[in-house]
Amino acid sequence: RAKQIKSTKAMLYALDMDADVELQATMEQKLKVAMENDELAVHYQPQIDPNNGELVGMEALARWQSDCLGHVSPAQFIPIAEEAGLITKLGGQVARKAMVQLAKWQQQFPERTIKLSINVSPGELMRSRFATEFIECVKSTDVDISQITVEITESAAIGDLDHSRAMLQQLVDAGISVSLDDFGTGYSSLSLLKQLPLEWVKIDRSFISNIDSEAANKDIVRSIVMMCHSFGYKTVAEGVETSAELKFISNAGCDLVQGFYYSKPLPADEFEKRYLQYADICSASDTSAKH
Ligand code: C2E
Ligand code: MG
Ligand code: MG
Ligand code: MG
Repeated sequence: RAKQIKSTKAMLYALDMDADVELQATMEQKLKVAMENDELAVHYQPQIDPNNGELVGMEALARWQSDCLGHVSPAQFIPIAEEAGLITKLGGQVARKAMVQLAKWQQQFPERTIKLSINVSPGELMRSRFATEFIECVKSTDVDISQITVEITESAAIGDLDHSRAMLQQLVDAGISVSLDDFGTGYSSLSLLKQLPLEWVKIDRSFISNIDSEAANKDIVRSIVMMCHSFGYKTVAEGVETSAELKFISNAGCDLVQGFYYSKPLPADEFEKRYLQYADICSASDTSAKH
């Protein structure tokens, strides 16, 4: 009987695996079609200066609303795109869309400086033409290149460190900034931090969201901020959701905040309404008051 149960379990597990493999294959197929039809959207999450609550920039995040699968999270479809060899095309589509949008906003709101962060996957960074093509993309869209930041993770950099460093240095030489994403979850290597041409380090959400339940996280966050500053890097706190977290982060000396406390990622029109038009109306009425 025990043997039978064991084999039933094994069979269910195998069925489960089959279903998984099938779902992966379906997703891969649907993703391909969605990309061909240019159906991927980009949402924008504000990055705010915690000292004055002002918008500094935004992170572009890929969104996929599939007719038959519904909303699929990037945590799910980005790895699929990586495995299926679609990531370069996907990354290119997202980057182009976001830069076209930024160029529009830079023209429409010339008095604002708006930074744009774009996520780059290991599979993209690995390619020898990555930096050249990324720079070409920026130049073809008329955006102010000094406002563009590329976000990479430690795991992306570490694969072939010499190659990654060369790619990132090429971006930096062209005027693009580099940000290390999800810091604290991977290797968190000090020597890696020192070796990459960074401007920003993003402290992973897991430290911020457990600040109250795990006292050690406060020390960790403070230490990361101090260490980054001593290296000359600025810090972004990811995943700030409460005013208590905001207060702590601000006291810890974090330079920028990104999180649901301010806003979740928004479609372009909503982002524009909330963060660009409103601010524009304010400054317009300021000027009229002076006359
Ligand atoms: P990430 O680059 O670390 O992006 C931040 C993620 O944290 C986003 O999830 C964002 O919605 C979420 N987030 C921000 N603030 C909060 C908060 O206060 N609370 C909580 N619970 N979550 C918060 P999202 O959009 O689901 O993206 C997940 C990951 O997928 C990204 O993590 C990034 O690694 C990847 N990704 C998304 N878009 C792209 C893309 O265009 N290219 C590449 N290569 N990767 C992407
Ligand atoms: Mg990111
Ligand atoms: Mg992150
Ligand atoms: Mg992440």
